[in-house]
Amino acid sequence: MSENIFDDAIKRLDAAFKYAKIDPEALEKLKFAKTTLEVSIPVRMDDGSLNVYTGYRVRYDDTRGPTKGGIRYHPNVSLPEVKALAFWMTFKCALVGIPYGGGKGGIIVDPKTLSRLEVERLSRGYIASIADFIGPDTDIPAPDVYTNARIMGWMMDEYSKIKRQRTPAIITGKPIPLGGSLGREDATGRGAYYCIKELEKRRGWNPSDITVAVQGFGNAGQHVAALLHRDGYRIVAVSDSRGAIYRKEGFDIPSIIHSKNSTKRVQAVYCEGSVCEMVEASTITNEDLLELDVDILIPAALENVITEENAAKIKAPVVVEVANGPVTADADEILVKNDILVIPDILANAGGVVVSYFEWVQNKAGYYWTEEEVHQRLQTIMSREFNVIFERMSEEDADMRTLSYAHALDRIGKAISAQGTYSYFSEEEMETA
Ligand code: GLU
Repeated sequence: MSENIFDDAIKRLDAAFKYAKIDPEALEKLKFAKTTLEVSIPVRMDDGSLNVYTGYRVRYDDTRGPTKGGIRYHPNVSLPEVKALAFWMTFKCALVGIPYGGGKGGIIVDPKTLSRLEVERLSRGYIASIADFIGPDTDIPAPDVYTNARIMGWMMDEYSKIKRQRTPAIITGKPIPLGGSLGREDATGRGAYYCIKELEKRRGWNPSDITVAVQGFGNAGQHVAALLHRDGYRIVAVSDSRGAIYRKEGFDIPSIIHSKNSTKRVQAVYCEGSVCEMVEASTITNEDLLELDVDILIPAALENVITEENAAKIKAPVVVEVANGPVTADADEILVKNDILVIPDILANAGGVVVSYFEWVQNKAGYYWTEEEVHQRLQTIMSREFNVIFERMSEEDADMRTLSYAHALDRIGKAISAQGTYSYFSEEEMETA
């Protein structure tokens, strides 16, 4: 992962500054991570040997509340990447108005090469290494790329053992029997879906006329595809890390999910019950998928897939960033110039952390909500914030990402200013209450 991913991430701040009500000093503070931790995690492998893994946890800013953000397992994890991801979490939480700052964690590992028991030992080891740095009112982890509910369950258990106190609110995205929330599993995809439904209303779309390509078929990609498919949208292309498939009539998404879960591959299939048959489709690359002539492009995998090199070739008029950071800052300028509407990551994929917030609230209250309550409260937040930004676009001459950052900066700025700024402290006569 490129060293400048973090520098690229903070570039968005200067662009948003002129649209935001924030003190320049407060903005300066937001260009630095509050605390960064690097740990070494020794893990006993199944064959008796010892491997030592490197992990990180970054607490970016906690002005608005405890830091919040997932843990990623990936061979390309690096400190600049984790810092960029923690930065994005800070703005995501502020944008949707939940009382958190931003954080993120990661381990440099390819989890596909480990056995389940090795993944469990690694996950528990990571929590043991960072246990003094996190806490239900300090820093609350969650799932991210290649981590899931089961891993969150092990982590909660490990933390609880260390603290000698059952602490479900230490982590979100847990299995339901261990204090997870209904509706957390599909929350990231569902949040993006609610944004698309708002756009549908504004544009007067008829779903069956709208073609969609989804790059990445992990948790978020699968769920957004399934929800759109259920409403009649035509999902004409999907991909995983191995490659992509395209079919102009669209795919039956539940069949593709079914076969992905059993074979670990994205395949062009149609299933009746558990019997699947191949359907005709073309095999394309992930790069080809991004350049398809579709109505909506959904990058739902990793960062930096739309760069200066391919941005001019993107034909979709709407890009919904379900992944974190899929478009580089340079590429973004090209998309904006070409009049492509980009629903930015900090808005489009915020559904995950919103339902994480609901899970934490439920854990703290010890009172659990129905799935309908979770969906309805998620929809209220996503639709409200989407429309606030959309309205600002018609009043201010800026793109959706810039205004999303401006909106988040307004909220963070108010919190920072409430603690006192340069102009407040430099006044000769300080008012005393
Ligand atoms: N990893 C998710 C994200 O990037 C969820 C974070 C959370 O739920 O805390 O937004």
